[in-house]
Amino acid sequence: MNEKYEAVIGLEVHAQLLTESKAFCGCSTKFGNSPNSNVCPICLGHPGVLPVLNKKVVEFTVLMGLATNCTINEKSIFARKNYFYPDLPKGFQTSQYEEPICEHGHVNIVFKDESTKKIGITRIHMEEDAGKSIHDQSYNTLVDVNRCGVPLMEIVSEPEMQSSTEAYLYLSKIKQIVQYLGICDGNMEEGSLRCDANVSVRLKGEKKLGTKTEIKNMNSFRNVERAINFEIDRQIEILEEGGTITQETLLWDADLNEAFSMRSKEEAHDYRYFPEPDLMPVIVNEEWKSEIAKQMHELPDNRKERLITKYNLPKYDAEILTQTKSVADYYEKVIETTDDYKFASNWIMTDVLKVVNDEKIDIKDFSVHPENLGELLNLIKNGTISGKIAKDVFQIMLKENKKPSEIVKEKNLVQITDSGEIEKIVEKILNNNSNQVKQYISGEEKVFGFFIGQIMKETKGKANPKAVNELLKEKLEALKK
Ligand code: ADP
Ligand code: MG
Ligand code: ZN
Repeated sequence: MNEKYEAVIGLEVHAQLLTESKAFCGCSTKFGNSPNSNVCPICLGHPGVLPVLNKKVVEFTVLMGLATNCTINEKSIFARKNYFYPDLPKGFQTSQYEEPICEHGHVNIVFKDESTKKIGITRIHMEEDAGKSIHDQSYNTLVDVNRCGVPLMEIVSEPEMQSSTEAYLYLSKIKQIVQYLGICDGNMEEGSLRCDANVSVRLKGEKKLGTKTEIKNMNSFRNVERAINFEIDRQIEILEEGGTITQETLLWDADLNEAFSMRSKEEAHDYRYFPEPDLMPVIVNEEWKSEIAKQMHELPDNRKERLITKYNLPKYDAEILTQTKSVADYYEKVIETTDDYKFASNWIMTDVLKVVNDEKIDIKDFSVHPENLGELLNLIKNGTISGKIAKDVFQIMLKENKKPSEIVKEKNLVQITDSGEIEKIVEKILNNNSNQVKQYISGEEKVFGFFIGQIMKETKGKANPKAVNELLKEKLEALKK
């Protein structure tokens, strides 16, 4: 990066929790309902109403805390964070401030070269979302408050990342964990996972942190990386010109590839945080904590280790296959049908993930069912079809939800393994190409490939390649003598 400066980055990640009802009332959290229909006096903040905490919100946040090595505080409290926006009719956000539910955790990020780094998590707290102001559907600004009161968990990292790559890896890890836990769908593009990046720079070797800015409004991983790089460069340039950094909040503009100042940074006292008088402290005693711990799913790192030890997969494969839970699930379904674990991994990492990524779908919605892929691999393994024909069958499977064995039968793709039959074809090709045969005999062995091509053409790719190779070699060598 830079010889003289180093960057310091801390992320604040908001994850929308996948509960059916809102954090403090019974309203639905369903996305896409008509505007202002998922509301009640509580989430609209009418006078005199009383909130009731959704138990699931606590359980999901504690699960996240346990998964990220946090201390779960036995007692935590809610606070009111006051601000005035049209998309928050209550006039304050119910959040946690002084005594959050989880603290002092960490996750490990893994670099390409397989080295790791521990990134500290300062705290995880529960809070509620605000509604949405819509500026582009009318001359006036419209407000949809369906999202008011939808539960969020905010995960605050220590200022311990030093590059946009580290921030990217950290954010990926958080996304991976919430998806494995099933507590958030982790979709940045749709806003169910949001990230604010705090960035400062300082001279290398300097202990004191520089003044930070906070960038908001990045709705993809790529934009988080870009925004951080932009901001690091901007700050270095200011310092190099003898200026100072103003602490402020910036908004990322993905179209212009630039961040713009939104407001000077507010301080905690601007919000007039105070303990929420209408909600009891949250008490998570040992008993409840262990009940919640029982709901813990296998975490990505553990699953990766398991794939390595149980199926003898290389680290690289295990890392790719466990990137999302749904891919790991797909893999383990495929190997219920076929037992060459590495072969299945190869097919998924290349052929399957290529289609899934190109089509930008979740592998859950992939048209080839895992049992059918397993069957296809078995057809290759037992010699029914060649690897090359299998690629064609796979293309057909992408379009038609049919068993590969049916496709092979229908299209008559069964491999020719009968050596008598192959021998006949080899002889025919040699007879028809006497010039090339002469070349071979005179030592030009590269025409071997030409014969293979002709034989495959003649058999429409169905001849068993190994048998063809052996027979062809035998015949040609015999002709030399
Ligand atoms: P604020 O009160 O401005 O919200 P916090 O202390 O709560 O600041 O920290 C918010 C986030 O900013 C955390 O993720 C933290 O790691 C990060 N952060 C704090 N100071 C700096 C800094 N000097 N440079 C980069 N990130 C920082
Ligand atoms: Mg903060
Ligand atoms: Zn409500």
